[in-house]
Amino acid sequence: MEKCTAIVLAAGQGKRMNTKVHKQFLLLQGKPVLYYSLKCFEETPWIEDIILVAGKEECQYCREEIADKYGFRKIRKIVPGGKERYDSVYQGLLACENTEYVFIHDGARPLLTRGILEESFREVKKWNACVVGVPSKDTVKIADENQCVAETPSRDRVWIIQTPQVFRYSLIKEAHDSIRGKELFQITDDAMIVEQETGCKVRLVQGDYQNIKITTPEDLVLAEAFLRGFQKDEKN
Ligand code: C5P
Repeated sequence: MEKCTAIVLAAGQGKRMNTKVHKQFLLLQGKPVLYYSLKCFEETPWIEDIILVAGKEECQYCREEIADKYGFRKIRKIVPGGKERYDSVYQGLLACENTEYVFIHDGARPLLTRGILEESFREVKKWNACVVGVPSKDTVKIADENQCVAETPSRDRVWIIQTPQVFRYSLIKEAHDSIRGKELFQITDDAMIVEQETGCKVRLVQGDYQNIKITTPEDLVLAEAFLRGFQKDEKN
């Protein structure tokens, strides 16, 4: 079986949360936000390695207070991230060892499920590149520079993109190598880099509306509620 590695990103500053503690370390039901997605990767048998990308000053904390404390044995390396998200992804890619596929996941999305991982693994084997997302429930407008409506894309074609974003390793590494040294604007996800730099089609995989990213304080309330639902399901 081809080797799969998870790259879990936790090097962001989380400025929109307005807390001293970075959002990936805030507690949800007594455990750090970051714990939950690591647990999902740890418990998925065909994920072999986890690379955790953390802030430079937080690598030791992650080793002691997360990897060791919760016994995550698949965390092979904890590496410092970079200024932008794509810089952190690149550090994660450099830390991978002989892997076929990479699952790049935001550590700030604690509600990852085994089902999402299974489905994206199936799709990446067919397409080489896929991203998890959900069809938009709302109408989306593209604004012009005066905050007036410039465009209304057809709703059945609009997806809200989440993570994991999953790629054949050689493809995403090639795409990231090719953006090094270029002047870049607004690169918010890995799929964009693959589309732009390699021309490879990126498949959309239906994820889950609960797979939210903790960004602002109300997201913590939602995540707590969803997590309680998960735990109820596990007991039944
Ligand atoms: O900032 P945003 O919420 O989009 O970040 C998404 C994920 O990427 C978070 O888990 C965050 O910790 C991570 N990130 C990172 N390095 C950065 C910026 C964000 O690892 N420079």
